[in-house]
Amino acid sequence: MHDPVAQLRDLLRAARHAVCFTGAGISTESGIPDFRGPGGLWSRIQPIDYQDFVTSEPMRREAWRRKLITDRTLRAAEPNRGHRAVAQLVSSGICACVLTQNIDGLHQRSGVPEEKLVELHGNGTYAACLDCGLRHELDPILSAFEQAGTLPVCGSCGGIVKTATISFGQRMPLNAMQRAESEALACDLFVVLGSSLAVFPAAELPRRAKLNGAKLVIVNREPTAQDACADLVIHAEIGSTLGAAAGID
Ligand code: NAD
Ligand code: ZN
Repeated sequence: MHDPVAQLRDLLRAARHAVCFTGAGISTESGIPDFRGPGGLWSRIQPIDYQDFVTSEPMRREAWRRKLITDRTLRAAEPNRGHRAVAQLVSSGICACVLTQNIDGLHQRSGVPEEKLVELHGNGTYAACLDCGLRHELDPILSAFEQAGTLPVCGSCGGIVKTATISFGQRMPLNAMQRAESEALACDLFVVLGSSLAVFPAAELPRRAKLNGAKLVIVNREPTAQDACADLVIHAEIGSTLGAAAGID
């Protein structure tokens, strides 16, 4: 019987169209805490709902106060061995597409081209107007907030500006969701990396792929909600596991 890393390597080699599906767990080795793992962010703070953000100025203030703190961690983070292994699987043609729930931009920074990446929950490295969609850079927003407590307003339409991430209660980005669904149906190997598979609708994707005939692999420190339907489950660190399977240091 092969060891699990060798099994993963074999599955990757045999795949004609693999998809990697990443969650917060792939970025903990870069120093960004996850949400639901032990010591994760939500053991400490409640997330802010989209409706609360839109309707309450104190909530918007609280959201930007948190962003000021978490942004330092995000900016200091560098891609780790897990991100590099994913990028290698993409550049070698094994992995056709990376579906990520992460908002940290580390897949792009490790070299995954934009056209091979689907951000299901948006991107936290910039902001956008909720009304007209105009992109706003974070630096001026954060310094105005830090220095004068100013909340950002869209210069073009006067709308509310929010980080370009998808909050609970906010509609999923339609294009990203459609691309993710078609990738899940097109793949012959679906590899989950560091997701508790508890956030829907994103967490429907592995099940969809599996029901459509793809092999399902889950690499996660802890058990997930979909371990029972996977072909291979590895409860270990992503960096060392995928790094070894993809031949990346
Ligand atoms: P999650 O926090 O629900 O689950 C992460 C899982 O990864 C946990 O089960 C944990 O045990 C596992 N894990 C953590 N580090 C690991 C490692 N090094 N090796 C193997 N497993 C590891 O994350 P989720 O499923 O992505 O859902 C949380 C939501 O929060 C996502 O939608 C995402 O948008 C957002 N989020 C993003 C970031 C980020 O961009 N880096 C960070 C926190 C939360
Ligand atoms: Zn606007």
